[in-house]
Amino acid sequence: MRDRFATLIAGRETRQPLQHLVGEVEFFGLTLTVGPEALIPRPDTETLVEAALVRFAQHGPTPCRIADVGCGTGAIALALASRLAGVQIVALDNAQGALALAAGNVRRRDLESRVRVVAGDLLTPLAPRSLDGVVANLPYVPDAEIDRLEPEVRDHEPRHALAGGPDGLGPLRRLAPMAARAVRPGGHVLVEIGAGQRGAAAGILTDAGLGPVESIPDLQGIPRVLAISVRG
Ligand code: GLN
Repeated sequence: MRDRFATLIAGRETRQPLQHLVGEVEFFGLTLTVGPEALIPRPDTETLVEAALVRFAQHGPTPCRIADVGCGTGAIALALASRLAGVQIVALDNAQGALALAAGNVRRRDLESRVRVVAGDLLTPLAPRSLDGVVANLPYVPDAEIDRLEPEVRDHEPRHALAGGPDGLGPLRRLAPMAARAVRPGGHVLVEIGAGQRGAAAGILTDAGLGPVESIPDLQGIPRVLAISVRG
């Protein structure tokens, strides 16, 4: 007990995230395993889950198929699967470590029949018009800002899950046209964005044929999620 306490304190002294030290985090009421292989699920992302639940709950006849792109620990996929009885989720990531964590969390929550974990670059493994929805918390931090983040994030969370290129929007630029192709009319696309990115991110989505774009604030009032209903 004492040794464990000393180990935890030593870990915090080197600014390891508390969530890595205890090995888990609570996200949207689910306890999930976390590790240095994927971003620790953040409360910001619960805004995305809430907005997605409202939209997919109203989605017409089940089954409904949704992709969680850049799934990391699988947090978004699992939150949606646990709340929406009729959905099938494909959780995609290009990082082996993240895929292993996500698969472990799917087993831990006993949702193997509803969430499939798939290796892939964004939506490339999926066929056109094969989805009713895309949800994504892609890397969106501008490269130059990474070094200004807290040491817990900067030194202990995977850079490839944070760094989004010079303006942070590189991954969204690649995803937008893929999402426009993959989602069927009547479906929904929801993406998390960083502070100050609303205008530029909405422009990228609109240019890909995804619009009108709705903006949803997080609990601090910062535009955090952009949502689009795909037209017929
Ligand atoms: N909100 C995260 C952070 O700044 C970034 C998440 C992301 O890039 N998707 O800590």
